[in-house]
Amino acid sequence: MIVCKFGGSSVQNPSQIKKVCNIVLSNKKREVIVVSAPGRDEEFHQKITDHLLNIVTEGSHFREHNIDISKTKSYAVVIKKFKDLCKGLELKEDDFIPFLEKDLTQCTLKAEKREAFFLSRGEHYNAKIICAYMKRIGLNAHLSLPEEIGFILSEDYLDGKVQAQTYENVKHYFKFEEEKIYIVPGFYGITLQNEIAVMSRGGSDLTGGELAYALDSDSYENWTDTNGVYEVDPRIIPEANVIPRLTFKELRLLSSKGFNVFHFNAMLNCKKSKIPIHIKNTNNPEHAGTIIISERVPMEDLVGIAKLDNMASIHLQKDMLGEEIGFSAELLKIFGEFGINTYHYPTDKDDISILVEQEDLQGKINNLRRQIEKRLKTDHLFVTYNLSIITLVGIGLKENSFAIVDAISALKEKNITFEMFDMSPSKISFHIGVSQTISDIALEILHEKMLNIGC
Ligand code: ASP
Repeated sequence: MIVCKFGGSSVQNPSQIKKVCNIVLSNKKREVIVVSAPGRDEEFHQKITDHLLNIVTEGSHFREHNIDISKTKSYAVVIKKFKDLCKGLELKEDDFIPFLEKDLTQCTLKAEKREAFFLSRGEHYNAKIICAYMKRIGLNAHLSLPEEIGFILSEDYLDGKVQAQTYENVKHYFKFEEEKIYIVPGFYGITLQNEIAVMSRGGSDLTGGELAYALDSDSYENWTDTNGVYEVDPRIIPEANVIPRLTFKELRLLSSKGFNVFHFNAMLNCKKSKIPIHIKNTNNPEHAGTIIISERVPMEDLVGIAKLDNMASIHLQKDMLGEEIGFSAELLKIFGEFGINTYHYPTDKDDISILVEQEDLQGKINNLRRQIEKRLKTDHLFVTYNLSIITLVGIGLKENSFAIVDAISALKEKNITFEMFDMSPSKISFHIGVSQTISDIALEILHEKMLNIGC
């Protein structure tokens, strides 16, 4: 049995939904289908979930992001989206639209509960429509709402966490019969008070991951609009290949802001149960995609190269700091007090540097410096901004530390200097810090030398 999740772009219009049906039909093991809200609208190119948030916040959601879309416009966009789906799939509008209108105009809930209810409507009505369409074309589709399954979330209405009893409820609910297909709306669940709560944004991935875990499914297919996880960011290097197989750990190391394929928490339980996650493209189902697994034979040293931009390095100098017990602990405590997440800590006898995301320093760097100098009596503190950290990842690196030599030599050949170097304790990744101005070139050089061999 396979749990599949189809993301917003895979279910955003009638022709995409028809592709989903073909995919489901092409493998009988695809028995549990989790769906997102119908992606983006055609006029403003905003997600339907964001429009729903805009309606419930009286237009402040888009206003806060300097986007000029009123509550009334968002309402019209949402209704149009669902009407278009009904029309294109030849379903009766009256079976869905009046109920949606009522939910969006007559809801008496307040504050967070109200927001969660509105946010959930995208998935709720999309699942209803997709299920009705599947039935119309003769499939044995069955709508399974989170409230019926017993998909229980904590009472953090806008960031609900899956509760343990969900797993038992799921096991009891699903009965796998010949050709039966369950359609489940993602992203939301119910609290023990029977009220709707949503998980964090992108939460349909989590619904799929949790169902796959509870049902111990053979695999969890995550259908999206890209061919899989790329060895480097394809926006920088368009000829980048998709990585066919990688481990959960490698994926964690490769992910960086803006390059996340799916919600990480969705992996946690699949990882625990060693359920493979298969990332596939709804628009290109023939492509093999990427399989994420717990263990693999390392056929190559390196699988991918990630790049994290807009980093800053805070370099402290103090005679004998290496011998001062508790120095690093106090330093990290100060960063913690400012709510700043820290990355690597290259250190030496009289020096230590801390890498942070540059934007975390905004409005804080002055006081941070003051606290560090006052409490740790440092001799010097230098801040270098606009660094990029390039991370080379692969479980095979553990057996071949000379890959590091190849990477550094490749940079040397092209006269690319670097600011920082760090090998991770697991030995399956290493980091090279370069100035952001040359980071795309550095990435190209490393890709060419280390991954493009023989192409
Ligand atoms: N529709 C929700 C969102 O946009 C959840 C999801 O698509 O996974 O965040």
